[in-house]
Amino acid sequence: MVTRREFTAGVGAGIAAAGFPNLAQARSYNGPNVILIRFGGGVRRYETIDETGTYAPYMRKVLAKRGTLIPNLMIDQLAGGNTSHAEGTLNLLTGRYEAYRDAGSKFLQDRLEPTEPTLFEYLRHTYNIPSHQALLINGEDRPQEEFFTYGIHGHYGIDFRSEMLSLHRFKLYKFARILEGGGLTDEARIAAENSYAELLAADARDIVPEQSPEIQTMWARWREHYGDDGLKNPRGDRLLTELALWAIRDLNPKLMMINYQDPDYVHWGNASHYTRAIAIIDDGIRRVVEAVDANERYRNNTVIVITPDCGRDANPLMSVQYQHHFNSRSSHEVWAMVVGPGVSRNRIYDRQVDQTAIASTLAEVMGVPAARSEGDVLSGLFG
Ligand SMILES: [Zn+2]
Repeated sequence: MVTRREFTAGVGAGIAAAGFPNLAQARSYNGPNVILIRFGGGVRRYETIDETGTYAPYMRKVLAKRGTLIPNLMIDQLAGGNTSHAEGTLNLLTGRYEAYRDAGSKFLQDRLEPTEPTLFEYLRHTYNIPSHQALLINGEDRPQEEFFTYGIHGHYGIDFRSEMLSLHRFKLYKFARILEGGGLTDEARIAAENSYAELLAADARDIVPEQSPEIQTMWARWREHYGDDGLKNPRGDRLLTELALWAIRDLNPKLMMINYQDPDYVHWGNASHYTRAIAIIDDGIRRVVEAVDANERYRNNTVIVITPDCGRDANPLMSVQYQHHFNSRSSHEVWAMVVGPGVSRNRIYDRQVDQTAIASTLAEVMGVPAARSEGDVLSGLFG
């Protein structure tokens, strides 16, 4: 491992040579785009990065040739806290362990908010990047993940938040427009009012401030494309892929995190739900990479990191397999794949790496001082 200073002198120079001037002090951002793909919720190495066991053949056998695979990423056993989805995601975004607290919502369990700055906040604190270009893409049934858009650390916070794309957010937009539009029968108006009130009640932070005009413009197009019946748009993790593709096309995000989640359905005990969900994420990754390759603003100018939130148990004697809350070793065993300009190609990174290194390394790639991150900078990925 190297210090940040050494990294900036060495790898920073490498990135500059690859076409990214080092403008860490400038207000406008000229660094690479970053797409952080959470291969959630909770996957084991065997079904993802093991060449014989993988259900993600595009990622493991095609995309891996374009980048570096870190097979031995670990969630620290002592400092890692609960090995679960919100926790792992916030480890990735803050570069620290247990940098979160219970947000105290009365509506949903499992609501954590970061107590340290996230990558989104570091980025927008340093550069003049509008909120719709720092994006979090979340699943429909996880409004609690909106808490990840900013932390409560004093120097950062809501002014530097990311925005979120999700079906929940779209429906908030849609019912607000329906009610504004008027011309409804009493019955239709009451139904729309009730739906809107329910969405607001489940919303993590009461949509303050409003979704930005750019996001609302995208939702207007989405509504026109898919209609109001909610039946035509893709569901589950396919929906997250679709939102990511629309974002790349319409919003030009500089930092985007896609929070895939559907392998977590294995909590219900059916292993085929788990392996099928992995295959669907693999297909999503392929489509995102193809969109990057086809887009002038992203091609050769985008660092993609794919990494799980947490692992899963490997004990075949458990009555319900594939859980992840019991602090077993394999629930701490994750991995990462890194692809992009300056990243070594077709390489396996053979050292053990800590999960907190992801935030520190991405901050360095973006030229952002992530002062509170505790992870190592993986300069060895580059060059
Ligand atoms: Zn879970």
